[in-house]
Amino acid sequence: MLEDAEVGRILVITAHPDDVDFGAAGTIARWTDAGIEVSYCVVTNGDAGGSDRSVSRADMVTIRQAEQTAAAKQVGVYDLHFLGYPDGLVEPTIGLRRDLARVIRLLRPNRVLCPSPDRNYQRMGTSHPDHRAVGASALDAVYPDSRNPFAFPELLAAEKLEPWTVREVWISGSPAPTHYVDITDTFGRKIAALRSHASQISDPVGLEERLRGWLGSAAAAGGLPAGSLAESFQVLEYG
Ligand SMILES: [Zn+2]
Repeated sequence: MLEDAEVGRILVITAHPDDVDFGAAGTIARWTDAGIEVSYCVVTNGDAGGSDRSVSRADMVTIRQAEQTAAAKQVGVYDLHFLGYPDGLVEPTIGLRRDLARVIRLLRPNRVLCPSPDRNYQRMGTSHPDHRAVGASALDAVYPDSRNPFAFPELLAAEKLEPWTVREVWISGSPAPTHYVDITDTFGRKIAALRSHASQISDPVGLEERLRGWLGSAAAAGGLPAGSLAESFQVLEYG
């Protein structure tokens, strides 16, 4: 695995505004505290989110973009890219692979964090179809699309985006986690980030309790001391 000191930039690819805060905000706070530049790429516009039917779907897009931007600030992230795909309809297409390869070549991250392409039968909430489609496309964009100069040649010819090799991928929501990050010290900022998504969260008090339960179980699974909280990932290394 890469040491954080070897990592200058990390790109986080998610399906929806709020995914990163459920899965990884505590870890991201640690990365930005260590001086690593972190960028977010959110594939959908989130227009199928929330439960308030009086909010127009166009307004929901604006609300969710603002919420994700505010949540990012809580954990030291200021560079956000919204691809604007319709929420709930994402498929693992060649077009999505090209769009993600474009962002990777533009930002040149050493590490990418993305959702799992695999269904997690233990935690169905992490296995939304958009998450799986984005996870599959992100892995394909990492290898081979962003590193191969002959993949999507228009990126190089028309946009002057040179190939780029990502060295490591961290999968969030994986059914087979391999790595546990102790986020006990950054849990407060993760909760603050999650509370930024007010349109999505109906029970902010219960939310903290649920999170402590999930993250405490992850810490136990990772062998961390009792009372710790952890986020878990499947880490993939690339040559
Ligand atoms: Zn989601």
